Amino acid sequence: QMVRTKCFYNNYALLVYNKISQADKESFQRSFVRHVTTTLARSAFNVDNFSAYQATAHTVRDRLIKRWNDTQQVHTEATAKRVYYLSLEFLLGRSLDNALLNLGLKESYGEGIEDLGFRMEDVLGQEVDAALGNGGLGRLAACYMDSLATLDYPAWGYGLRYTYGIFQQRLKDGYQVEFPDYWLNFDNPWELPRLDIVIDVCFGGTVNKYTDEVGQVRYVWEGGEPVQAVAYDVPIPGYDTNNCINIRLWSSKPKRQFDLKRFNEGQYEQAVEEQMKAENITAVLYPNDNHMVGKELRLKQQYFWVAASLSDIVRRFKKTQRSFTEFPDMVAIQLNDTHPTLAIVELQRILVDEEGLDWDEAWDIVTNTFAFTNHTILPEAMEKWPVPMFFLQKVEQTYPDDRDLLAKLSIIEEATPQFVRMAHLAVIFKDFVRYFGPEKFENKTNGITPRRWLHQANPKLSKLITEKLGSKEWLKDLRLLKNLEKFVEDKEFQKRWVAVKHSNKVRLADYIKAQTGILVNPNALFDIQVKRIHEYKRQFMNILSVIHRYNTLKKLSAEKSSKVVPRVVIFGGKAAPGYHIAKLVIKLINSVADVVNNDESIHDNLKVKSRVVFIPDYNVSVAEIIIPASDISQHISTAGTEASGTSNMKFVLNGGLILGTVDGANIEIHEEIGDDNIFMFGNLANRVEDLRHAHRYRNVQMDPSLQAVIRDIESGHYGDPRIFSPLINTLTIGKDYYLISDDFDSYLKTQDLVDEAYNKKEEWTVKSILCTARMGKFSSDRAIKEYAESIWNVEPVPVTGVKIN
Ligand code: PLP
Repeated sequence: QMVRTKCFYNNYALLVYNKISQADKESFQRSFVRHVTTTLARSAFNVDNFSAYQATAHTVRDRLIKRWNDTQQVHTEATAKRVYYLSLEFLLGRSLDNALLNLGLKESYGEGIEDLGFRMEDVLGQEVDAALGNGGLGRLAACYMDSLATLDYPAWGYGLRYTYGIFQQRLKDGYQVEFPDYWLNFDNPWELPRLDIVIDVCFGGTVNKYTDEVGQVRYVWEGGEPVQAVAYDVPIPGYDTNNCINIRLWSSKPKRQFDLKRFNEGQYEQAVEEQMKAENITAVLYPNDNHMVGKELRLKQQYFWVAASLSDIVRRFKKTQRSFTEFPDMVAIQLNDTHPTLAIVELQRILVDEEGLDWDEAWDIVTNTFAFTNHTILPEAMEKWPVPMFFLQKVEQTYPDDRDLLAKLSIIEEATPQFVRMAHLAVIFKDFVRYFGPEKFENKTNGITPRRWLHQANPKLSKLITEKLGSKEWLKDLRLLKNLEKFVEDKEFQKRWVAVKHSNKVRLADYIKAQTGILVNPNALFDIQVKRIHEYKRQFMNILSVIHRYNTLKKLSAEKSSKVVPRVVIFGGKAAPGYHIAKLVIKLINSVADVVNNDESIHDNLKVKSRVVFIPDYNVSVAEIIIPASDISQHISTAGTEASGTSNMKFVLNGGLILGTVDGANIEIHEEIGDDNIFMFGNLANRVEDLRHAHRYRNVQMDPSLQAVIRDIESGHYGDPRIFSPLINTLTIGKDYYLISDDFDSYLKTQDLVDEAYNKKEEWTVKSILCTARMGKFSSDRAIKEYAESIWNVEPVPVTGVKIN
């Protein structure tokens, strides 16, 4: 009886599911055809993959708009406290696949598409990435938006709608060449232009003092150049919820139309000059990761963005008709790094000059509204602007004799010219803790969204996990992955785990073949380092170790060589266009790849022992192919330089092991997954200062293996060595600031341990399963809940009672 009931239940569930799915599928196909014929104005017989993508995207967009509207309505009616996430970067990647999965429509729409004669994969592949960010910081913002939506928080993102996202990277003769990323070339179905929401932002002019009849003093900003900020809204659907939140991106537009008088006088260029200047503000994303370049246009971007966003936030608050003293009860604003710290002074200006509050009352509101996240400790990344501002009266009152502390805390860096330190506007570090007390400072471990980084990027693993755990709940409560540990010794499960990894490696091998022409063996160990190219991330050390291993391999006897684990070393990442040393690292990687990949002598019975690949144009959608395919990934920054890292979390979540230094989130990952499942090496952060000192002032011998590798490069083995001398000089004349020599020996030894461990297949599989099982902590849902509860004080507001789809 039990069995019969269960069968009936399953059949019934299937029927109900198919019915829903059938309805979705049919509604999809109707909508698809309508968009082909009306939105795209095409005949139904003339639809290529790109048009199929557009029609599908517009169909999904229709569904999103409905949810988006309902969500805004519910949040407004609930007069809920909202959180605003201000980020100059949102590295969203593609939206279609993610929206289909989050809305639970992937299967029904997939069937609908296939029935119409298209392959889902081809259709999804048509979408260009929204690449409005450089790396970790921008991608973190995107993961956080996914979690905010999924957890039903009333949240908005605010950013800029750059006409050009991060540049596209191509390779020419092994060198990086940059091409503009004009991502809006075709229509962008994932934004809703809000041409009715236009905010004037003023640059320049003067603030004049007026006294009215009753003696009230007012300050009024007059003159200057007005520029308009036009809103474009990007809906962000949560997973398995009706909630769909918004990222509002501002685009700059001239306030005045072109100068007709000049135009008529034949001065065409002068006639449009002002328009061009206004449009330039949001034209391009600055392509520097963890590096500050003090350009005036960048500062203009920042003010334009915070002024428009705050005006919008204040306008929305005023609709509640509450007093400004309640502002911090209704509004929390999170500043993603120092880029939006001008928002602090802008809100104070609005409250005092425009809303007529007195200074101290306004400052109280301001300090209770904002929170700031610091993302880096690299000095070259700290924003400072050469404008004299602000005073230190309060500090002087508290510590009247401490001149030293005064200088450290100053918003102004005393130099010629003077600089404004942006982090000090938002507050950082030790001396600030001493002054303000510790309660103003908290650590929040970053996180990643398991929806994109496992469910979407690794569908086979997601399916296997769901099957083993018996439900999809883990996608909303990542700690449930822990239950996978029960199956870690189950041979059948291990076999399937390995098969999934293998098929992801085949997928990556196909991608590498298509992009670079290089053939790689999916049975080899896939060793991956993909991230922005930066000296502190030490891709240089990685490629130097590749040379070392190659030279060792060449010297081995045939018998010994046959035991060597074949390895594919994969690199990817962009260098900032003006960062010459980083660009030389790319060149060196490609030069080494040329030599190694063409050396027949290291092929053993047709088994290639070593391959080196540089995958061009690393971005979010490329990361989605690379990350699930890794056996080992490298996160090898000099200790004390990487604030967190998030790709490390993505690799481990997908069952890849880490070879890493004791730095950033590697440390917390290590704590969670245990000693046996991570390969750590190198000097600790507390040694770095002493080692640097020794390099600078004493004659430190370079590590002998490293010396041999350097000699090999200098001998011309990898092309004209003069090309690489600025890079080599960073180790010798530059005194090895990133301590490659100090960590090299420990790095090589740990690489050997990786090989040894990889040879023990079953043990490796256990490690891989345990990695995934123990990554629950690193969900961005956990991070967002911590922010919501201990910093923002916002509550979820679910959107219920609304019919969806
Ligand atoms: N770039 C892209 C496209 C990413 O997806 C990520 C994070 O996963 C990063 C950069 C940041 O990488 P990392 O944490 O290794 O610096």
